[in-house]
Amino acid sequence: MEETLIYPLPARAWLDVSIAALRGNAAELQRRTGLPLIPMVKANAYGVGVAGAVGALESLAPLAYGVATVREGEQLRELGIVRPVVVFTPLLAAEHERAATADLTLALGDPDSISAWARTGKPYYLAIDTGMNRAGAPWRDLTDLRDVVRKSPPVAAFTHFHSAESDSQSSQEQVARFLDAIAKLGVEIPLLHADNSAAAARGVGGRGRWGAIRPGVFLYGVGRGLGLDARHVVSLRARIVDIRWIEPGDTVSYGATYSAKRRERIATASVGYGDGYPRAVSDRATAMLHGRRIPQRGLVTMDMTMFDVTDVPCEVGDVITLIGGDGGPELTVEGIAGLAGMSPYELLTGFAERLDRRYLEG
Ligand SMILES: *Cc1c(COP(=O)(O)O)cnc(C)c1O
Repeated sequence: MEETLIYPLPARAWLDVSIAALRGNAAELQRRTGLPLIPMVKANAYGVGVAGAVGALESLAPLAYGVATVREGEQLRELGIVRPVVVFTPLLAAEHERAATADLTLALGDPDSISAWARTGKPYYLAIDTGMNRAGAPWRDLTDLRDVVRKSPPVAAFTHFHSAESDSQSSQEQVARFLDAIAKLGVEIPLLHADNSAAAARGVGGRGRWGAIRPGVFLYGVGRGLGLDARHVVSLRARIVDIRWIEPGDTVSYGATYSAKRRERIATASVGYGDGYPRAVSDRATAMLHGRRIPQRGLVTMDMTMFDVTDVPCEVGDVITLIGGDGGPELTVEGIAGLAGMSPYELLTGFAERLDRRYLEG
């Protein structure tokens, strides 16, 4: 993170997004694998902000961008993106026209959908399911697919690992199923890929056979101990809007779950679960204030969260860092998510629209 933090914004709460770290994470995966990127920027780039994310990634010349909905694809076009944009979620046929108008590429595995989409003349990626049982053509039986794929060949084919972060053996099994399915189709497909962040970082996939990687979460700073460590990207910050002294026995927030044992100075930060700071961390989290850790007190409310600042001189308007760095120890996305019993993906994608996103080059 940057050394000196200045907060020129009037904002009550915001995300600081390090563009350099995001780009660095992407470049590192690209360098390690020697493969071009299909960065996943679905769900507003995992909550980080899609405009900033593609701004950071464009200079790496990605092969395509991955999204989950037609609307997300349209947003990339509105941002001026002219590269292929792939929708990796099955669409209803009723959405095809809108998807074609935005010049999107679909990920398809169902013969009827492929026939319907082929009429638009737009490209598609063939989705092969090798164990997720979520979407894509089931690897075991591709007989229904063969004719339609020969008639309308895909520009790429892919599969998706279910346990890439923990289980190399299941990933190898999925690779074998995928390559077997492709061979059985008997169609030349110019681009094959499978690796998500964990597979790319650990090198568990079918290196040598792939023409691209599809990283998501690693780009946004989540992924440690996978052979590669992601640099921290997102910090959640909020201003102190109220400070008061409470007496022993006084309680804080709804339900009075916290009761003070001493005279305490309580600061209210203008951020809550309505911004995506998880309520489940209530009475257990710490945050950073002027480089020091402060304990969180009472239930996190929708718009405000209270902290014990007895030991840290501060005033209204000062900035509390709830996730990320403040010149002191870092509060990681994984750490806060773990405390909340959430996945880091869920924490990131839960950041609300009402948070400003500030993109920092540092
Ligand atoms: C979301 C997604 C990815 C990225 O997964 P990460 O674990 O975030 O790297 C890759 N491929 C597909 C099909 C996805 O839906």
